[in-house]
Amino acid sequence: MYKKIEGIVLKTTDYGEANKILTIYSREMGKVGAVARGAKKPKNRFVSLSQPFTYGYFICYFGTGLGNLQQGESIDHFRNIKEDLLLTSYASYVAELLDKGTEERVRNPYLFELFLQTLQYLNEGYDRDIIKNIFEVKMLQVLGLQPNFSSCVMCGDTAGPFVFSIREGGLLCHQCSHNDPMHLAVSQATIKLLRLFSLIDINKIGTINVKEKTKKELELCISTYYDEYSGLYLKTKRFLRQLKDMYRDEN
Ligand SMILES: [Zn+2]
Repeated sequence: MYKKIEGIVLKTTDYGEANKILTIYSREMGKVGAVARGAKKPKNRFVSLSQPFTYGYFICYFGTGLGNLQQGESIDHFRNIKEDLLLTSYASYVAELLDKGTEERVRNPYLFELFLQTLQYLNEGYDRDIIKNIFEVKMLQVLGLQPNFSSCVMCGDTAGPFVFSIREGGLLCHQCSHNDPMHLAVSQATIKLLRLFSLIDINKIGTINVKEKTKKELELCISTYYDEYSGLYLKTKRFLRQLKDMYRDEN
């Protein structure tokens, strides 16, 4: 069956002498694999389509197993991302998280839109750490690991103030915080942002202005939570950390 899909290339893998396998996240079919014949040859018509983060239309033949790319048309290549190593590593991390966190051919138009918007925000120069954090929090929902960011996990208190408990999977009020001695005593600004990230419509992000200290706390909560529950090992995550450290040392 021939099908035209709107998608974004998550990654490419060399296949034989001349071909590439594209892993595409599409609006219509979720994650699919498709062979781009000859895409490793410089003059091949699929060369520009067969790059990570290419957003476009792909006409593929789908049988069982891998699809076969027949034709395509790119809409955006996200140039700013590609021309900046640090930005590329943020986008690669988000793409790998999406790849590792989803099964093939499970349609999820919401997730497609989330990924597309995330790349657009990164490309337009929005705060990369915050955009990454929003994607991570929303991805927790997709993975079925959504923490409770709205009330105390133990007693249901909604007023706060709160701490964040990895072990209990969400917020603890001050009365209940002793139940997890390892709780993260982060600022209320961080708690509010975690809640906001889980609720906000990705299409409606305005100006973001977050203090460095709050950003560090957000990263700590989200990253520790992923390490504890997701079971995902992402090589791009390690690379991104190393690169960020390197840039920090230079400045
Ligand atoms: Zn409580």
